[in-house]
Amino acid sequence: MAKKWVYSFDEGKKELKELLGGKGANLAEMTNIGIPVPPGFTLTTECCDKYNQLGEKYPEGTWNQVEEKLADLEKKMDAKLGDPENPLLVSVRSGAAVSMPGMMDTVLNLGLNDKSVLGLAKKTGDEKFAYDAYRRFINMFGDVVMGVEHKYFEEVLNKVKETKGVELDTNLDAEDWKKVCEGYKGVVKEHAGKLFPEDPKEQLKMGIDAVFGSWNSKRAIAYRRINSITGLLGTAVNVQTMAFGNMGETSGTGVCFTRNPSTGENKFYGEYLLNAQGEDIVAGIRTPQQIGELKKQMPEIYTELENIYKKLEKHYKDMQDMEFTIQEAKLYILQTRTGKRTANAALRIAVEMEKEGLINKKEAVLRIDPNQLDQLLHKTLDPIAKGKSEVIAKGLPASPGAAVGKIVFTADRAHELAQEGEKVVLTRTETSPEDIEGMNAAIGILTSTGGMTSHAAVVARGMGKPCVAGCADASIDEEKGICKINGLELKEGDYITLDGATGEVIKGQVPVVDPELSGNFEILMGWADEFIKLKVKANADTPKDAQVAKDFGAKGIGLCRTEHMFFEGERIKAVREMILSGDLEGRKKALAKIEPMQKEDFKGLFKVMDNLPVIIRLLDPPLHEFLPKEDEDIKNMASEMDVDEQKIRDTISNLHEFNPMLGFRGCRLGVTYPEISEMQARAILNAYLECKEEGIKAIPWIEVPLVGNVKEYLTIKAIVDKVAKELNVKRGEDYLIGTMIEVPRAALTSDEIAPEVDFMSFGTNDLTQMTCGFSRDDAGKFLKPYVEEAGIYDKDPFQSIDQGGVGKIMKLCIDQARKVNPKIEFGICGEHGGEPDSVKFCHKLGLNDVSCSPYRVPIARLAAAQAALEQE
Ligand code: PEP
Ligand code: MG
Repeated sequence: MAKKWVYSFDEGKKELKELLGGKGANLAEMTNIGIPVPPGFTLTTECCDKYNQLGEKYPEGTWNQVEEKLADLEKKMDAKLGDPENPLLVSVRSGAAVSMPGMMDTVLNLGLNDKSVLGLAKKTGDEKFAYDAYRRFINMFGDVVMGVEHKYFEEVLNKVKETKGVELDTNLDAEDWKKVCEGYKGVVKEHAGKLFPEDPKEQLKMGIDAVFGSWNSKRAIAYRRINSITGLLGTAVNVQTMAFGNMGETSGTGVCFTRNPSTGENKFYGEYLLNAQGEDIVAGIRTPQQIGELKKQMPEIYTELENIYKKLEKHYKDMQDMEFTIQEAKLYILQTRTGKRTANAALRIAVEMEKEGLINKKEAVLRIDPNQLDQLLHKTLDPIAKGKSEVIAKGLPASPGAAVGKIVFTADRAHELAQEGEKVVLTRTETSPEDIEGMNAAIGILTSTGGMTSHAAVVARGMGKPCVAGCADASIDEEKGICKINGLELKEGDYITLDGATGEVIKGQVPVVDPELSGNFEILMGWADEFIKLKVKANADTPKDAQVAKDFGAKGIGLCRTEHMFFEGERIKAVREMILSGDLEGRKKALAKIEPMQKEDFKGLFKVMDNLPVIIRLLDPPLHEFLPKEDEDIKNMASEMDVDEQKIRDTISNLHEFNPMLGFRGCRLGVTYPEISEMQARAILNAYLECKEEGIKAIPWIEVPLVGNVKEYLTIKAIVDKVAKELNVKRGEDYLIGTMIEVPRAALTSDEIAPEVDFMSFGTNDLTQMTCGFSRDDAGKFLKPYVEEAGIYDKDPFQSIDQGGVGKIMKLCIDQARKVNPKIEFGICGEHGGEPDSVKFCHKLGLNDVSCSPYRVPIARLAAAQAALEQE
């Protein structure tokens, strides 16, 4: 028997999302719990996968199954596809397991032809409606399925309106629409080189082909890449009986959310249009009405809708985003799915649903996408500066955050200028799925039409970008490159500021400020901490950064890069003096100047991190980084330090390396110049002692960088031991000592190093560089296409740990080391320490802590808690 490729809605359920796609699975679930859903059937994602594997051919049995389900549907609806008396009309829509709004194709009103349109006219008693539906179908089918540009259809429509001398579509009658239909068929013939298909079964097949084919369209591929959607088979196709929202004033269509997707407020939220077809709302062509109005206009329908949304939210235990259509005072639900929401809304909804008893704390913690927390940490406009600024227009607050950038009018320009490092605001009448790359490149989005559920609004919210939509005061001419707002003319390159939280559009640049976090954030992070196993620390070199990290819940400092301290003020002079001195005595003299400053630096960190560990890494970068590069700077340095210019040039040339990242850096500096490590060890331990006297509990962990051979480590350790002895402090009681693991050789020989260390911290920036053989400074040039086009790596290995390679080395290192020293504390302090997938991987490896930049601490905390819960 052939495999089952097609499911009717009453055969599916929500758990079959992978197979039926999100839309199909939810249509099935709603059908089964008694929600009014127009009947239909779903071709599976497996069918799409096979179709693509077979070179755009259907797997065996597909068409028999489609015919069977169609026959059932015709029976149920008591109508037939293409029937000249009583036609069944269907929609054909895509729906993958993960929602990709607007990315793939949709065809409505399928089944209409020259004969069935007569049936539709008869059945509805409305010839004008029937021909309007027919022309919409020819247009959509011609565009989506047969690849004819929309503008050609537009030309025909405009000509008919012109001849009749009217401006609005609504002024056209049945005869006019007939002319439009004929004209549209001509357009198809001319531009597709084929006749518009009259046979409804052929229409259906071509429609399904187009949806399956759209899975691999450029924009769908781009969307999946941008949203890191991987591992899906394809899209499902839903063939569903049409419900018409454009059959007069007792019909309509809308999109609604069970709670406010922007703020999370537990209040029914949505928009609708009377006498309109579904896509009118999303396309943002007419500005819709707020859902509350429906209560006045159609009170019974509103009550029914209210009951349904409550039922659905309770059933799914999450905020739902629903689409509905009212056909002649009868309500149908066309879709429900988990609603996209801003980070603040996500927190509020999770916390409130827990309080309402709908979900528990674990579910609440698992609900929040750690990456989304980034949005909360986004900047907002400085309220004082904003108060003085010129608000030139106000649109809808479609997605929060502040965007300050240069105006661009096309997605391509947005992409181009962003590549050059510019911050741009994509400014368009409306956006469409083709603009996805440009939206991703822009820092903010402004549109003049469309509501809170328009494409621009939905996509921007998902991307966490500020967006002001439906700004009616703005008249935008993309072709001319002009945006007119209340008499003001703005061109490409002019600065504009958006406040996505209020919908305000401001002329010029307004300074931005750091965000404040809501009480819900604290509550949810508190719950996360109940489950977390990993400790989250921060990479911080200054007391200010350390304080930010601590405020975000960091449990110590996982990496203090001491070299950053060497650049400040007077220190750089002493550092340069040390580098220029030709002998030990000269170096010691210079180091003696640096030592008290270093000690104060460390005290500053210890004070902020009172009673929490602070990992201080000994000097790491190649020395040439401390010397000037430009001619003028060399001259200045010579005169400031009163040394011969040539001496500086000679030193620079001596220190020159072809490959400094693999050169004289890390512990190699301390091995060659022990006095540097000695000075740093003394500064750290004296800072510790002074803090102790002041009643502050400092917990220093001294870290040796770039070890590859245990003997390197032992050399530095001996220096630290000696200083500790002199100061009468004890390893284990007063301080700990350990290594970075950045060189593959260190990981491979971790059993040799392990007996000598208290901790090991993976420096995955260098470890990735040396394991993959990619220069961390240059690889960006070819890594992007490596990841995005060739798919050689799933993700940039400098952002997300290359688990199959670097990850294997980490595991080997841990396993070997723990065998000889089970007490070793393992951590990570490369950039990966704040990236959710990498954090989850670290949890699985059994690390003790992760360390990341201060602003990523909450993200890492949440990811770590989720990792623990996912493992339960
Ligand atoms: C690392 O290599 O991962 C690391 C944290 O050190 P740095 O980035 O300073 O080289
Ligand atoms: Mg490193």
